[in-house]
This record gives sequence, C-alpha cells and structure tokens, in this order.
Amino acid sequence: MPAPPCASCGKARAALRRPRSGQALCRTCFCAAFEAEVLHTVVAGRLLPRGAVVAVGASGGKDSTVLAHVLRELAPRLGISLQLVAVDEGIGGYRDAALAAVRRQAARWELPLTVVAYADLFGGWTMDAVARSTAGSGRSRSCCTFCGVLRRRALEEGARLVGATHIVTGHNADDMAETVLMNFLRGDVGRLARGGGLGSAGEGGALPRCRPLQLASQKEVVLYAHFRRLDYFSEECVYAPEAFRGHARDLLKLLEAARPSAVLDLVHSAERLALAPSARPPPARTCSRCGALASGALCQACALLDGLDRGRPRLAIGKGRRGLDEMGPRGAPREQVQAPASEAVPSF
Ligand code: SF4
Ligand code: ZN
Repeated sequence: MPAPPCASCGKARAALRRPRSGQALCRTCFCAAFEAEVLHTVVAGRLLPRGAVVAVGASGGKDSTVLAHVLRELAPRLGISLQLVAVDEGIGGYRDAALAAVRRQAARWELPLTVVAYADLFGGWTMDAVARSTAGSGRSRSCCTFCGVLRRRALEEGARLVGATHIVTGHNADDMAETVLMNFLRGDVGRLARGGGLGSAGEGGALPRCRPLQLASQKEVVLYAHFRRLDYFSEECVYAPEAFRGHARDLLKLLEAARPSAVLDLVHSAERLALAPSARPPPARTCSRCGALASGALCQACALLDGLDRGRPRLAIGKGRRGLDEMGPRGAPREQVQAPASEAVPSF
C-alpha cells in the first residue's frame, strides 16, 4: 500500500508518522516542523537573547549533533553565534572516536571547535584514572555519577575560554524524563526541586544553561538525524552499562508503551512540583575553593578532586546535605567512596 500524502504539503508522499501525534509527514515537512518547534522552545522560553555567544556542548552523539545542526539553521533568525565545545574525559577506546565525529562536524559546518580535557583541567585526572581509583571500594555506584560532575565543570570552563555567554546541551525529552524518574526513585527532593524548566539562569556566577531539545522526543531526534543525513557517533561509552540510568530508561519504555504521553508528562511534572518547606534544600553556599555554588564548604567538583588527590575519592551530594566538611555517613570510614546520587545523561 503506497504511503499516504504528507498531511502538511499534500504533495509529497509521507515518509513517517510522528510518534506523538501520528501525523503523516514527508521528510521535508517533518524537518521543517522539528526546527520550528525548537525555534518556538527557544523563543517562547527566552532561552537565548539576540547577540548571545552560544557554547554547544558537543559530544559527537546524536543529540548534540542534532542540536548543533538545528541551531546553525536557526542562528541567523535568532541572532546568535555558535561555538562547539567538546570535552575529552580521557576514556580509552571511546572518546577519541567520538571526538573525531565532532571534528568532522566542525569542519563541515564551519563552526569553531574547542576541546577541553579532564587531564588538563583536573590536575592530570582522566575518567579512566578516576574509574581505577574508585573501583574496588564497593560503594562506587557508577562512573557516570563522578563524570557528570566533572563534565559540567569542564563544559563551563570551555565555554568561558571561548567567551560564550550561554551554554546549550542536547538533552531531549526522554533524557529529562529519565532524570525525573531517577530522582523520584531515589527520593532526591533537592534535585526534583531544581529539575524543572528548560534551563538555569546561571546562579552563582555560572553561565546560563538551557536545553533547546528538552521537549523533543528521542525518536524524533533520531529521525531528524536520519533525514538530514547527519554524521554522528553512536557507540556507547564503556562506562554507560553500569549506570543506574539504564534502569530508569527501561522503566520509561514500559511506561511509554502503556501511556504514550508518559515522557512529556514526567518532564512537565518536574516543573509543577511544589516541595513542602521542610523538604526544601538549604540555601546554596559558595565553594571556598572555586567560588561555584555549593551545598557544603566545597562544590561537588572540588570535593571530588580533593578526595581523589588525597587518595580518598568520595563525593556526597544528592539526597543528603553533606559536603567535604562532613565526610560521608557518620561512622563510615573516610576511605570509602560515596558516589553522588545523581548521574549524568550519557551524552551532552
Ligand atoms: Fe561520562 Fe557519559 Fe561515559 Fe558516563 S557515559 S562515564 S557520563 S562519558
Ligand atoms: Zn569548587
């Protein structure tokens, strides 16, 4: 049976049905609709003002590739300029190939690219070295919990290096729903309270961050990459399989099969949550070492690096309110690794 005509132009044959709406569209109309929706997200949310120098966190993966491509298309209308910023975490057998994809994108799209490396920023620590240091303690939940903290810091440093005024990352709706689910499953009310909205305004001197693809489904991101024939790196990081996020992802797939709106419902639920006063996180402090926002004496990144340098890798963030000045649970040996309760999305 031939494909139906495109519901938008009525001329070409439809190439897909949109996963959420079921609307049959041709390739051209789908890509135009996808770009228009990202434009609407940015404009309606006032995410990127005219004149903004935008650092795009580029990992070589599908999400950041689609984000960079769409923003490059929209840049003249938005009045923004783009810089690609990639982070080399120092993960053997993975990151080099992903960075090669970012370099090809930068060359093809004629976008400036800056690569910042954990080893340079963090006193020689690579993610592989962190993984070796935290292994065997029996308490390290996953490398992603540590990597997420360092990568956030590295992207901030890279963005400042290129004179960016804003940072954008490629998190899509599925990523955000997984994060909300993880926070619920862990009872992490502090993160639930901060998890809503399309980005952060840049508290504590940090650059404003936003996620223009936050309302786009993962399926449509993949379809857009396919129809635009984008060149991206699709292998999984060697540390990703151990991440708790994988369980949230599996659960979300089951929920979505039963209720197709589950992904967006979860994303919006985080925006509408109201915490009881007793559950609200304490007011943020300033890291005594780097000046970033912190819940204790040191921010997460400084606490982690401090622990690694002392041979006692640990990090206490998330549910509790412990910082470096409260080294883990009462009575626990200081050498034990305490991983943060949060976990990075395994892509930018
Ligand atoms: Fe870091 Fe992503 Fe790899 Fe986790 S999956 S270790 S967050 S690069
Ligand atoms: Zn700090």
